[in-house]
Amino acid sequence: MKEKRSPSQLEACWKEKDLISGRVSDAMVMIMRTNGCCWAKTGGCTMCGYRQASLSRVTEDDLNRQVDEALSKYNEEGFVKIYTSGSFLDENEIPLSIRERILKEFSGCERILFESRPEFVKEETIAALPKTITIALGLESSDPDVLATSISKGFTPDDSRNAGMIIKGAGLTVRTYLLLKPPFLTESVAMEDTIRSALFADEFSDEISINPLNVQRGTYAERLWRAGELRPPWVWSLTEVLRKLSGAVNARLMSSPSGGGTMRGVHNCGKCDRNVLEGIEKFSFSQDVKDLDVKCDCIKDWQTYLGLERILGTAADLDRRFDNDLALGSAKDG
Ligand code: SF4
Repeated sequence: MKEKRSPSQLEACWKEKDLISGRVSDAMVMIMRTNGCCWAKTGGCTMCGYRQASLSRVTEDDLNRQVDEALSKYNEEGFVKIYTSGSFLDENEIPLSIRERILKEFSGCERILFESRPEFVKEETIAALPKTITIALGLESSDPDVLATSISKGFTPDDSRNAGMIIKGAGLTVRTYLLLKPPFLTESVAMEDTIRSALFADEFSDEISINPLNVQRGTYAERLWRAGELRPPWVWSLTEVLRKLSGAVNARLMSSPSGGGTMRGVHNCGKCDRNVLEGIEKFSFSQDVKDLDVKCDCIKDWQTYLGLERILGTAADLDRRFDNDLALGSAKDG
């Protein structure tokens, strides 16, 4: 039987490295259990499984206990990242009293990061926040059609831009997330979309984090993936995008793919995945494209894949599709 998750406990908490003013520093990541993203309650984004991570009756008392737990694990890291599987600035998720307590408890940190949908980014809200804050905005794509149709994001690229400008105008920093390869986009179109989106986001972003599609459970993307209608991007596509953007944007480029090297996440042939992903991690700190110089023969398969997708005009998983069709053909023949 599935273990019942306690609303007074953090979903997860771990330590990692990130940058503070260009310096590699210790960071603590805490994932809070909240009442969940307001948008996920109405169906949510096609690739987002956060509905599963949220509960429905998390009280202020529960949230205070989660903060107590985080403080018991806190070891003076200079950077604290607070994820809520939604929007930290949505008072239905994090009431104002909890927001104020968190900011007070971590007021000694050099950097604090949280995420928000743009509708909660208001001038008066942002003006009350310390300048050590980075707000992560999930722009995903600067193409309004991709945002509406492939992702079902529920806001426009200009909504993100306006939010970014408010945050920057108040002297805080912005990390923008872009989604590489939303549903229905071929690998080549997805790369072009992410490059265009990064150029769009550069104006209001200090950091641009490229998140390749990771097939999460219970999502629309998972249904497509199970039907062979979608393949998460190749790691080569991610390195290509980072290479093309290097020097073309002022923002720091980064990527820390969830599920990297698995069938549900960004992957190559299986043999080189770890090395290429390590190169990407290094690049995210160094910004040196030489860190992306990892070689594997499967780059030819990737190039062939791009060509085939163009000819066939489909974003379906071609390897699996061909296998399925052959299997179907032999079944008919048999
Ligand atoms: S991706 Fe963000 S905005 Fe979309 S449903 Fe998930 S948490 Fe909400």
